[in-house]
Amino acid sequence: MVIRNTSMSDRNLEQIMEETSKDDTLQTLTRLIIDGWPDEKNEVPKEVFEYWNFRDELSNVNRIILKGEKIIIPTSMRKNMLNKLHEGHLGIEKTRKLARDSIFWPGINAQITDFISKCSVCLESRRSNTKEPMAESETPELPWMTVGTDIFYWNINNYLIIVDYYSRYFEIAKLENIRASCVITHMKSVFARHGISSKNLLD
Ligand SMILES: [Zn+2]
Repeated sequence: MVIRNTSMSDRNLEQIMEETSKDDTLQTLTRLIIDGWPDEKNEVPKEVFEYWNFRDELSNVNRIILKGEKIIIPTSMRKNMLNKLHEGHLGIEKTRKLARDSIFWPGINAQITDFISKCSVCLESRRSNTKEPMAESETPELPWMTVGTDIFYWNINNYLIIVDYYSRYFEIAKLENIRASCVITHMKSVFARHGISSKNLLD
């Protein structure tokens, strides 16, 4: 098997190999990949629990761990990777897309969102953009500040979809019924996880 990961230079790969060998969790993971996984999740060490669901996609090539064709980045290099991914100060979705083809670690998407929402360069440029009234109505300043919601019916169930206008991230919740109280309960739980929405553009 060959690493077909063109976005990584050789020097980077060497560093990833080096750091993977020093990363305790990734070393546990390497042993499981080589020796085989047990039948039950509770038989694996806790630190690799978050890899369990996609254990079949994992492989070990030249001391680097791959998930499909994506390189699993050791913990010590993740912060640096976030910096690199966000070098051009692209938005959350574009940055995620950039990562999606080449690198992975558990929780990477949430960390990208968090990293960008705290980026001072992006915050400053959003602040100056939102001084224009036109832009203000289009781009919220912060994630989960403005959301759109809709209810759709699929496969005998009703679903609530909530879209964050800032990141275009969306969440879907299955509804027990379409009474307002039920919809509001689901919306509250989504908002509680992301912070409170100040504007809800209900259709
Ligand atoms: Zn930025």
